[in-house]
Amino acid sequence: MHEQTAYAEIDRWREKLDELALNIWKHPEGPFVEYKACEWTAQLLRDAGFDVQVGVGGIKTAIRASYGSGKPVFGLLGEYDALPGMSQKVCDHKEAVCEGDYGQGCGHNLLGVAHVGGAIGLKKAMEENNLPGTIIYYGCPAEEVLTGKPFMARSHVFDEIDFSVAFHPGSSNNVSYGVMTGLNSFKLHFKGRTAHAGGGPHNGRSALDAVELTNVGINYLREHVPMTVRMHYIITDGGAAPNIVPDKASAWYFVRALTRETIDEVYGRMLDIAEGAAKMTGTEVEVEFLGGCYPTLNNHVLGDVMYEALCDAPRDPWTQEELDFAAKLNGDKKMDELLNTKIVKHTGNGYGSTDVGDVQHIAPGISFGTACYNSAAPGHHWNVTACSGSSIGMKGMIYAAKAMAAFGLRVMGDPELLEKAKKEFEESMGGSHYVCPIPDDVPVPNQD
Ligand SMILES: [Zn+2]
Repeated sequence: MHEQTAYAEIDRWREKLDELALNIWKHPEGPFVEYKACEWTAQLLRDAGFDVQVGVGGIKTAIRASYGSGKPVFGLLGEYDALPGMSQKVCDHKEAVCEGDYGQGCGHNLLGVAHVGGAIGLKKAMEENNLPGTIIYYGCPAEEVLTGKPFMARSHVFDEIDFSVAFHPGSSNNVSYGVMTGLNSFKLHFKGRTAHAGGGPHNGRSALDAVELTNVGINYLREHVPMTVRMHYIITDGGAAPNIVPDKASAWYFVRALTRETIDEVYGRMLDIAEGAAKMTGTEVEVEFLGGCYPTLNNHVLGDVMYEALCDAPRDPWTQEELDFAAKLNGDKKMDELLNTKIVKHTGNGYGSTDVGDVQHIAPGISFGTACYNSAAPGHHWNVTACSGSSIGMKGMIYAAKAMAAFGLRVMGDPELLEKAKKEFEESMGGSHYVCPIPDDVPVPNQD
């Protein structure tokens, strides 16, 4: 009954929700500069009667929008940032709106707005039925660089919540029971001594040699870490010309693992390798720590509620036109369905990362997805940008909003269930507490 009220309210707001998602899609913005997305999202939440603060945790593009009072406190984790180089038109072949520009290649326009819709639906059901509790929409910047939520968590923004939900658009309808990796992101800057590479190489101390030897060391390290560890790098500065011994060189690294302890341990070994490489080459190394995040900690008690909510929430069927569009995007990849309709439980681990895990280490939380793209769409791909600006993405987004409203109502209305979820959370944490992986002296980027 309460759920029907929430579903009807989301339908009543549907045009505005679609419009907001499309506007964010049309104006893709990078990490910590999501000014338009933040402004428009905050305005819609004000229009819907939420108490809205922008700039929470000292981050210009972070939102806290609340409704209600007292316990339990339910957090809905929205995001809106885009990816570089992912500009794409809504069409069945690769064609950028503006070549090289940002684009919604991870569908965060749908992600942010689905949580707004969920909060709006919940608010109406709570209002009409005098239900106790508080719902809070968090607009979280910079997920694509995996530091938005950790920076917010460092400022204790999430300490108030009892449980959370995090929706992510995808190519399937799913609830996550497994773990996605956490990570550290850092740059190494080597300083050496320049020289004429032909005329006086013995006078030079190559910073590029140090980068290369660091990478050789890291590649040997791969055999002696758990198989679930991932290490990646790019060289961001390798010198100016082959005939000049580079006195400066830099590289950017990620280390990912399924536990924070493993990330910290392997990170330390990578730094040891860098110091060894500096010693070998007669250079100096400086570490620039960019950020880190936790692995996810999906709560299985909440997962079961989310799964039921996904099964029960109404959704629009795919039209023939949408199926034809998906068929073109899928190309010759053979899939069970062109646009997925099944609802699945994802129990395996994932080796990408999300910063949702930081919030899930503060209070019980669950991640879920709905089909918003063609079934064969790879992650961070032009297929995703294309679908995120189409009716396929919008339908998946509205379905997600309804499912999360139903999920919220069920958990908020069942104190025993929430206690069970908290018990599971405490057991998973084993007596430990969240410690932000980003030290206090690392500034939030782009706040000037
Ligand atoms: Zn994403």
